[in-house]
Amino acid sequence: MFDGLTMWETCPACGFPFEREPGYWTSAVTLNFMTTGGFALLLVGPLAYSGLPVLLVLTLGIVLAALLPLLCFRHSKAIWLAIDLHIRPPTTFERLAGFLHVSGQHPPAGSRRHDS
Ligand SMILES: [Zn+2]
Repeated sequence: MFDGLTMWETCPACGFPFEREPGYWTSAVTLNFMTTGGFALLLVGPLAYSGLPVLLVLTLGIVLAALLPLLCFRHSKAIWLAIDLHIRPPTTFERLAGFLHVSGQHPPAGSRRHDS
């Protein structure tokens, strides 16, 4: 699904378009924010009552709030796509579009990258 932090537009194997509709990744961003924010709160929250200096706890919280979403960026998109595909399986049109996309190119370069 990814090449570094760059996401492929379609699956290299079957051509399935990852972004199924405009604004598709909004739910992935929300999922990422909620899980990493909750995890950061679970880590930093108890430290607020431990007697550590407030500046140290704040710094740790800010660093975690900045790094965790970046570390979970790819996972949140993959998890969201899996959840969505489970709830809303690919339509015949999506399968056909993927098949036509892959059959029109030479493997293994059957996928374009989404550069933005
Ligand atoms: Zn595929």
